[in-house]
Formats: sequence, structure tokens, C-alpha cells
Amino acid sequence: MSSPKMILEPPMIVDRQFKTPLFCGPGPCNLWPSVQEALSRPVITPLCDEYFNVVDDIRKSLQYVFQTRSNLVLALSGSGHIGMETVISNLVAPGETLLIAARGLWDERASIVATRHGIKVEAIKIPMNATFSLEQIEPELRRLRPTALFITHGDSSTGTVQNLEGLGDLCRKYDALLLVDTVVSLGGVPFYMDEWKVDAVYSSSQKALSGPAGISPVAFSTRAEAKINSRTHESPFYFDVKLLAQQWNCYGNTRFYHHTLSPPLMWALRSCLKELCIETLPKSWARHAAATALLHKKLKEFGFEFFVPKPEDRLPTVTTIVLPKEYPYPKFIAYMRDNFGILVFGGLGLTAGKTLRVGIMGVNSTLKTAEAVANAMINTMKGMKKSSL
Ligand code: PMP
Repeated sequence: MSSPKMILEPPMIVDRQFKTPLFCGPGPCNLWPSVQEALSRPVITPLCDEYFNVVDDIRKSLQYVFQTRSNLVLALSGSGHIGMETVISNLVAPGETLLIAARGLWDERASIVATRHGIKVEAIKIPMNATFSLEQIEPELRRLRPTALFITHGDSSTGTVQNLEGLGDLCRKYDALLLVDTVVSLGGVPFYMDEWKVDAVYSSSQKALSGPAGISPVAFSTRAEAKINSRTHESPFYFDVKLLAQQWNCYGNTRFYHHTLSPPLMWALRSCLKELCIETLPKSWARHAAATALLHKKLKEFGFEFFVPKPEDRLPTVTTIVLPKEYPYPKFIAYMRDNFGILVFGGLGLTAGKTLRVGIMGVNSTLKTAEAVANAMINTMKGMKKSSL
């Protein structure tokens, strides 16, 4: 048989050596060893009993991690952005208004996503190194009567953490749903979905949960569920929570096929959540707070400048630092990577070229790592100064 005519020859794929750095930026984070192991577990499908056990384990532990009794809790097949798009497109119809409390890159992203869905976007802006007070938000809720308010809990582009207490009640007063991004805060910072009256929340797996990117937790309150069930608009098929709820057996009676879930990611997320359930949330929050407190103490003692002036606004998972003018961010980052095997990031969006973003989260959130990162930063300052003399 003559060989078929090909327009391209197969490329040569060569395996290379790669030393994994310590990921101490705003994410992704290194994996828990148990998660690394979980990634190689066998393929499961809806025809295996274990598949449903894994689905149920994930849902039960997500209810714990979000601190919600809601049934509409599941994981989406995609990275954090899928949570943003799912929450917005399921809850806000084209032509309705979404009010965005904007202080960083993720609020800008939410605005782009909403606009693409034909949603009317309004934004309240504050300086990017600050957080909102209820008094700043209430007049806009009163004036615009939006369908929903979008706010980011932990903002990885600015290193701020938003206090959410009271916001749910405020939104209810004006009949608005409260949508919250917890991509870089869940597991590392206290979050209480039911108590704070959050209507929709999403997160991702590669930050404080220390898993691989690609599977994103999401939860909806009963108010949000009522809106989804009575809505007159269709959300995109892949993001349709009505259908996903059936796939994830949210009501205990459906094992519907919507799309193929990724078994390695299901195993991995289950394993991340198991770590958190064994440790418990209060202990994980305390571990993150203690590690970051040590990092901040050491950086402050050395004279590093924090981008976020108020300590209470600083996010426990990601710290933003302003370097002196003579230390270019890319060089500082490369020096830390090359000399200490520690990867920190520069700013993103509005903070690009203005900050260094240092993340101590998930499996890396230990006093030992905080100490190592602080020492590496201090020695980078000293080393760069010496080499420029
Ligand atoms: N929100 C926040 C707060 C984030 O930090 C990120 C990612 N850095 C996202 C949303 C988007 O998530 P992903 O890159 O996983 O799509």
C-alpha cells in the first residue's frame, strides 16, 4: 500500500528536564502531594459506581468550604473565568444591569464578560489599593436598582481583601443579587456564603486549594436558584446551571449527561477538598494568616514598601510590594527565580510595572516558606544592589 500523502511531517517532541520552582506568586500554586498522586488515578465515567461517589464527595466538601447549606453547589469544567461567566450569564439577562464594584483586573474582566452577554454594566470605582465601604456602594444600588452586584473578595491583581459583612443585607434591601469572586481567597481567607448572604460565588482550584487549574467550584443561594429557574433568557449551553445541576445530582435524583467531566481533575479537586476537610477551615485560615504575618513582619523590618496602605485591607494569600525605582521588576523576579528557585510575579492590569505580587498560599502557606521567601527577597535586594555597584 502506498503511504498516504501528508502535507506535514510529525514534529519531533523532545522531553526536557524542568525543575519545578516554588510557586510564590498569585497562582498557580504547587500541588499537595496527595493531589499529585490523585492526578494519576484511573479513568472513571458515569458507568462506574465510583464516579458518583467522587461527584458526591466534591459537592459535600464544597458545601463545607463555601459554608453553605445550598444544594446548588458543583464544579465547572474550566479555570476561574468559567465561574465568572457562568455566574453572570445565568443570573443577569441581556438588557439587565450589573453593578460592578471595581478595584482591580477581575472587575474589568467581569465587565467585559457581561458586556459580551448584552448586559448593561455600571461600575463604582475606588483606588486600586483600597477596598469598599458599604456607604460607597449603597447610593449606586439605590440609584441603579441593578439585577446584581459583582465584587471580588480577594483581588490578586492588587493584593486587597474586601470585607463582605453586611453587603448581602444591603443587596437584599435593593433586591439585587450578590455575586462574589473567591478565586484567590477560598480556603485561605474566612468566607461564609450563607451567613454573609452571598447569592453566587465561584473559585478555582489552583490557588489556596493547591490543585491543578481547570475545575472551578461554584455555588448559588436559594434566591439565585429561584432566579435561574424563573429566568426567561437562555445562558450558553456549556454554562447552563440548570443542566449542570442535573449532571452534578444537586437534587439527589438525576445523573444526567451534559458534558464529559475530566476524571484527573475530579480526583484532584476531591483530594484538595479532602486536605481542607481534614485540616478544617479555621486551621487553614489561621495557617495562612500566620505565614503571611511572618512574611509581612520580615519585609517591614527590612524596609519593603507595601502597595496596600491599610494592613486590614491586605489579602492574606497575595501580598503586593512596591520596589524602589532602581530595582526593575522583571530583573528582581528573574534574580529570585535564578538564585533561589522561587517564582514571584509582577503586577497585572492596573498594577503592571507598579508592584511585585508574592503569594503564600495552599501547600506553601507555612512559616518555613514565608521565611524562605522573605529571606530570598531581602537577599535579592542586597544582591542586585551589589551587582549594580
Ligand atoms: N479572579 C481572580 C481573583 C483571579 O486571581 C484569577 C486568576 N488569577 C481569576 C479570577 C481568573 O482565573 P483563571 O485564570 O483561573 O481563569
